[in-house]
Amino acid sequence: MGGVETRSEEDLDDSGIVRALGSGWRWKFSVVLLCALTATLLLICLAKRASRWWWSRSRRAPPPQPAPPPAPMCTVCRDDVERGEGGVTLPCGHPYHRGCIALAVDHDPRCPVCRAPVWPGDIA
Ligand SMILES: [Zn+2]
Ligand SMILES: [Zn+2]
Repeated sequence: MGGVETRSEEDLDDSGIVRALGSGWRWKFSVVLLCALTATLLLICLAKRASRWWWSRSRRAPPPQPAPPPAPMCTVCRDDVERGEGGVTLPCGHPYHRGCIALAVDHDPRCPVCRAPVWPGDIA
C-alpha cells in the first residue's frame, strides 16, 4: 500500500485495478477532507454565533445591582430633600423643604400629597 502511494501517476496508470483503487482512494480521501473542512468551518461558525449570542444575552441582562435608597423628594419644588437640615417630614411621612411646606400650608394647611392636616408645630 505504501509503495503504491509513493509511486508517480504514470506508474499507477500501468494497471487499471491500481488506477481504480488509487482514484477511489483519492476520491474518498478528498470527500473525507472536504467533510472535515466543512465540519470545522461549521463548528467555528457555530462557536462564533454562540459566543455572540452569549455576549448579547449577558449584555441585555446585566447583573442586578442593589438600588440605592430613593432620596426623599419635596413634591412642592420636586427637588431632593437633604436629610437633616433644611428638610422636614410631616406626621403623614411626606418630606418637604421647610420653606416649601411653610408656603404651601400658608393657604391650605394640609399635606399637598395626601391632604393630611398639617399643624404649625409640624413644620416648626
Ligand atoms: Zn421644596
Ligand atoms: Zn402627606
